[in-house]
Amino acid sequence: MTAAEPPGLETQRREIESLLRDSELRAGDSWYVVERRWYEQWKEFVETGDQNSSSFPGQIDNTELFEDLDSFHLKERLVENEDFMLVPAEAWHRLLAWYGTVDGQPPLERKVVDLPSTLKVEVYPIEIFLCLHSNMENVITAKFSRADSIREFVLMCEAFMVPAGSECRLWMKSSDSSCERLRNVHVSVLDACLSSGMTVIMEMRNADGTWPSSRPQIMRNSVEEQDSYRGQPGVCGLTNLGNTCFMNSALQCLSNAPPLTEYFLQSSYLEELNFTNPLGMKGEIAEAYADVIKQMWSGRHYSVVPRVFKTKVGHFASQFLGYQQHDSQELLSFLLDGLHEDLNRVKNKEYIELRDAEGRPDQEVAEEAWRNHRRRNDSVIVDTFHGLFKSTLVCPECHKVSVTFDPFCYLSVPLPVSKERVMEVFFVSLDPHAKPAQVTPLLVCVCVCVCVCVFQMVVADVFNHRFYKIYNADESLSCILDRDDIFVYELSVLEEAEEQPVLLALYLRERSHYRDYGSGGSSYGTSLFGHPLLLSVEQRHCSRQALYQLILQRQTDRQAGRHTERQTDRQASSRRHAMASEPPAEQRPPACHTTEEEQEEDKQEEACSPSPPANQQPERRKRRKSLFTIQAVNSNGTTERGMGEGGTQPYVAIDWDPDMKKRFYNENEAEKYVKHSSMEVPQQQTTVQLQECIELFTTVETLEEENPWYCPVCKKHQLATKKLDLWSLPEVLIIHLKRFSYTKFTREKLDSIVDFPLRDLDFSDSLLRKSLSNGEPPSRYDLIAVSNHYGGLRDGHYTSYARNKDNDQWYYFDDSKVTYAREDQIVVSLTSSNS
Ligand SMILES: [Zn+2]
Repeated sequence: MTAAEPPGLETQRREIESLLRDSELRAGDSWYVVERRWYEQWKEFVETGDQNSSSFPGQIDNTELFEDLDSFHLKERLVENEDFMLVPAEAWHRLLAWYGTVDGQPPLERKVVDLPSTLKVEVYPIEIFLCLHSNMENVITAKFSRADSIREFVLMCEAFMVPAGSECRLWMKSSDSSCERLRNVHVSVLDACLSSGMTVIMEMRNADGTWPSSRPQIMRNSVEEQDSYRGQPGVCGLTNLGNTCFMNSALQCLSNAPPLTEYFLQSSYLEELNFTNPLGMKGEIAEAYADVIKQMWSGRHYSVVPRVFKTKVGHFASQFLGYQQHDSQELLSFLLDGLHEDLNRVKNKEYIELRDAEGRPDQEVAEEAWRNHRRRNDSVIVDTFHGLFKSTLVCPECHKVSVTFDPFCYLSVPLPVSKERVMEVFFVSLDPHAKPAQVTPLLVCVCVCVCVCVFQMVVADVFNHRFYKIYNADESLSCILDRDDIFVYELSVLEEAEEQPVLLALYLRERSHYRDYGSGGSSYGTSLFGHPLLLSVEQRHCSRQALYQLILQRQTDRQAGRHTERQTDRQASSRRHAMASEPPAEQRPPACHTTEEEQEEDKQEEACSPSPPANQQPERRKRRKSLFTIQAVNSNGTTERGMGEGGTQPYVAIDWDPDMKKRFYNENEAEKYVKHSSMEVPQQQTTVQLQECIELFTTVETLEEENPWYCPVCKKHQLATKKLDLWSLPEVLIIHLKRFSYTKFTREKLDSIVDFPLRDLDFSDSLLRKSLSNGEPPSRYDLIAVSNHYGGLRDGHYTSYARNKDNDQWYYFDDSKVTYAREDQIVVSLTSSNS
């Protein structure tokens, strides 16, 4: 190497000495290792000041530092200032220019590293073995500084002849052969805890979007088949992993939002993964989502199994962990938030105090709010999906007006709720012949349908053969949930009643054959069956004897009803009468002696008679064996003696002997009901315009008791009026139609059809921000995807329609199935829609 003409010796000495004196260690700077003997020689040379002196050092020679002159590996345990000197890069380059190096010797460049307690020049870098996942036999050795970014590894891919632009992920293999992902390639070798002797495996993403290491076993066999399929990118099903249609539907909608999908397909997310955001998921949700999108848009799959994605979602949001049916919107909302925080370009969120408008113009306050939002939240999700709405609160007392502008990720718009409510109830007629009728509208309509006066009826919630609740006449209908089984009982009119009749709740029980000695007493075990009854009984008829007759009549009438269907009313009536007093011969229970057991039972019955005390029954020993016995019970239908029920409602159970029941009571028949003609009238589906829902969203409402507003003037919580207005809208607008209405009292799905334009949904009239310095804000939208829910609350199914960004064709996505769709199929019953 020929050296440049060096300056005078005194100049050399001054320049190098000042560089050595003034250079501080700065992390990332390069320093160079120079053999100490050569350096001392040079020092002597410049200090003696004789150009022709025998002390001329010659070319820079580090020979003594190398293990051998083939590998140029540094000898181990060399000591600074004894074996070598460290010179800053500037000094090295001057020395190199003046003297050159001995042929073939590489410069010993070393980095200053910022180790936890100290800054130092890293003389011994870390030696890592690198190999490809596809060929772990071919290992190369590479040296890295502790301060190097892990990204340097990726650059080594070239050494393996990997095609340019391939996406690569890194695995760190320790000596114990366990593998760990090096997820964050922006950290240093030191921070990744890599040390000499470790192996880093580089894994290239397959052309079909999958990773070789996470490809399921079964698919490995069909790699060729998978590779050969070339479909329309994005037209790809998602396998249902067990009640995950809600997730698949949301994923398909998002997958067809062009800006987001392009962002992932172009791998822009790799640069923006935020591993440190405490609100995020350390980039894992974003990576898992990227994997799904890359597979779906590779054009090489008919269907993708989003198992890893589902696991990650479940890992970070345990509500999605199981395999229950969920709300597609709930998942979409979680996913957008997770992606946002995982890709948030803001690494350290500053605290920003929010200011009220205090009378300033909207434009100013809105711009400030948006600026503040962007200072803490800056991601592809904000760029694509976030808009701003204005919220105005007015105190009802002091009329203080509070204006704030808040960002939103989707519009959750209400559906107009009809004030009328359609309910299905079972009507239990007084006429013992009539089976309970399932009818549609409640109370007033029941009255019309079955011609009974309102005041002769009691409404009850029946569950599991028991009364779950018996409603008072003045209770609101909102207490009744749609899923409840509501029974409406017709009561007999007691015209000559001298006193207030008692409403008696009647349960049907079947005795077991065996006495339940285990319970301590000598009571027999019982189980409830059939529909419970409500009877209006006069106090004086509350004796066991009278009740028995009353119930016997009703029960046998009910049972007899089935035999008399084809008889005339008159015949039926007379037969009933006969049965009530004395069962016909072939059905007559045997007149047997009263056994000791029965005596005991009779005593029991007396001991726990219903709250109106039973009259003494003088001749009971002479009676026939009863079809059933009567017990006072609690509301659960169990006999717990000594336990006061507290309430005033008397409950009795009629306990059937199993043999008697088998002979005189037809359970199947009794459980049956008939459908009233009102049930056959199809319930009318109402159609609403999406615009109406949006208007409803921006309607003034009064805050609810549970969610008051703290008025800073009154210094107390107030039920303020609240109005929302749209200020600015995002590039992709998500509209969520609140079909599932969950309130304290009701859980229901609103079935109204929402009519929706496929093109040019225009918001310009409802948008407050009219013009902008940098162009028009988005206000017109075309529909691109719809997430649909079919069926009821618990058994529904989610599918989606979406328009492919590349060919503008609509598709229908039903889990793993994808079919072409026509535009006119789309507005069926929108659940939530992205437009
Ligand atoms: Zn106030």
